[in-house]
Amino acid sequence: MEAKKIIGLGSPLLDIQAEVPAEFLEKYGLTLNNTFFAEEKHLPLYEELINIPTHSHVPGGSALNTIRLARWMAQAGQDQVKFIGCVGKKDKFANMLIEVTNQDGVTTLFDEQDQPTGKCGVLLCNKDRCLVPLIGAAAHLSEDYVNQHIEDIKTASVLFSEVYFLYPRAELTKNIYKVASESGVNTCLTLSSVNAVSDKFNDILAVLPYVDYLFGNEEEVEQFAKNLKFEGDLSQVMQQIAAYEKHGQRERVVVCTQGKKPTLIAKKNEVITVEVQLVDVSKIVDTNSAGDSFCGGFIAELLNGPDLVKCAKAGNYSASQTIQHEGSTIPKYAPVK
Ligand code: ADP
Ligand code: MG
Ligand code: MG
Repeated sequence: MEAKKIIGLGSPLLDIQAEVPAEFLEKYGLTLNNTFFAEEKHLPLYEELINIPTHSHVPGGSALNTIRLARWMAQAGQDQVKFIGCVGKKDKFANMLIEVTNQDGVTTLFDEQDQPTGKCGVLLCNKDRCLVPLIGAAAHLSEDYVNQHIEDIKTASVLFSEVYFLYPRAELTKNIYKVASESGVNTCLTLSSVNAVSDKFNDILAVLPYVDYLFGNEEEVEQFAKNLKFEGDLSQVMQQIAAYEKHGQRERVVVCTQGKKPTLIAKKNEVITVEVQLVDVSKIVDTNSAGDSFCGGFIAELLNGPDLVKCAKAGNYSASQTIQHEGSTIPKYAPVK
């Protein structure tokens, strides 16, 4: 039997991290503990960062983080886990991103457009940081490119994308989910952030009928429920979201993580609670992409079938590993199952 496949869809970014002096920040008009979406004046910053000998560069972007973690959790083989996105044409940053993504075992299906490759500058200064994201080419994935890879989508066991990707590509994303859903793929979507839920509410509603698994943390799920004018406690609104209009063969499952508090999983008529294995506080380094990592473990386990408790436990496990180091790096050891 052919190995089951995972396909990711989203905005691939190259995270470039370096320790910089305060003058570097000043030069670009940046301040610590803030996020600055890159403007024209920031563009030379990325080149400067990669010229710092101690810099590091790793794949980034929320959905790509999830997909890399899923590959690790499933210990999936060559071409079993792929990611569709868009990078810059004849752009060395694109080559860097492809190289490090492939090193994590993920096959890149990257369209190329005349835009700079998406990046996120991570400027570290005295233990504080400043983020400078540039979505660039990641917003320009073409429909033609997706159509060339439609078989990869239709034959996957799991499709995963992010509400962030609805900013540039809402209509395209909805169409992909429709095709995937009609082909029996397990379709998964993460809510991404509270702001994204509010900004993209109508676009989320358009894709939701084709979503089998909806992920979010408690703030995101509560915000979504609020926009839907659903009333009740978290478990109740999750069930109402699960019961929202649904096409395809499966009932919708809504998965809500709550940091170290139990993970809730709702279907229309039931809610399951899964405890989180606590990680010693002294070992926690960075919880920034905990949610992305959770989704990675969850969808990797979904390849073995929809045992929701097992999926949540796998999600909690992968998150517990990544919060013990900086950023979204993939552990060198094999997952312990
Ligand atoms: P997000 O990063 O999207 O806000 P959460 O904070 O809910 O997501 O975290 C996702 C998962 O990461 C949790 O379900 C849990 O498995 C794990 N996790 C997060 N914070 C902790 C923590 N302090 N201790 C143990 N596990 C954690
Ligand atoms: Mg959180
Ligand atoms: Mg999150």
